[in-house]
Amino acid sequence: MIRFEHVTKRYPDGTTAVDDLSFEVAEGELVTLVGPSGCGKTTTMMMVNRLVEPTSGRVLVDGEDIAGVDPVALRRKIGYVIQQVGLFPHRTVLDNTATVPSLLGWKKADARARAAELLDLVGLDPAVYGSRYPAQLSGGQRQRVGVARALAADPPVLLMDEPFGAVDPVVRERLQNEFLALQATVRKTVLLVTHDIEEAVRMGDRMAVYGQGRIEQFDTPATVLGAP
Ligand code: ADP
Ligand code: ADP
Repeated sequence: MIRFEHVTKRYPDGTTAVDDLSFEVAEGELVTLVGPSGCGKTTTMMMVNRLVEPTSGRVLVDGEDIAGVDPVALRRKIGYVIQQVGLFPHRTVLDNTATVPSLLGWKKADARARAAELLDLVGLDPAVYGSRYPAQLSGGQRQRVGVARALAADPPVLLMDEPFGAVDPVVRERLQNEFLALQATVRKTVLLVTHDIEEAVRMGDRMAVYGQGRIEQFDTPATVLGAP
């Protein structure tokens, strides 16, 4: 579903963030990208939704070279969850969740019905939380809204950048487990960036272990942990 072919990214200041990266992620697979800060994980992820363009090489999503795909059209295919969630502070939880369907031109009532369904799916009763504003939620609840919003247009691919990084360890573990239960039903193709090796092991069908600008291991958690 996601394929990198000899992808290199050099930023204008000369930093090589990612160097000749090739890998493939199967449909319905959850791959964690793990490694220390600055090793190229976020750059890798942002080349999948064209927030960053490769310097050389190709990125394919669902068999299509995305270099030719309009970034707005990519939103239909690719959901994105980031650590600081980035909810619109002056929009209700329901309207935040309906953002992408609205951008895609759904009728307002349809977009809202869909948003309510997704809030329910992430464990937030829309009748209780739908009319609140982001500031009226806990950190964990805001992250859940972030996941609901990313899934609202039912994209086959979900990108998650430190999605559970901003909450305390107890809430983090709960959100991780909730997401795994959700993933078992929705079966998205997921790239999840984390610097937390335990999270990478717990969440990943496979894990991509980064060194500086390169993936040093790409395998199941059991194999990575068992490796010498
Ligand atoms: P990670 O997600 O693993 O922390 P990043 O992909 O954010 O790593 O960064 C990889 C490298 O690229 C780092 O050296 C970082 O400083 C550099 N980098 C990231 N974004 C930019 C940018 N916009 N301009 C220049 N260098 C950048
Ligand atoms: P979670 O585990 O979902 O992140 P917390 O344990 O942080 O939730 O918060 C517990 C409860 O406190 C939540 O159900 C939420 O409704 C409420 N709460 C937390 N922060 C706020 C806030 N800023 N305004 C209103 N309610 C809040």
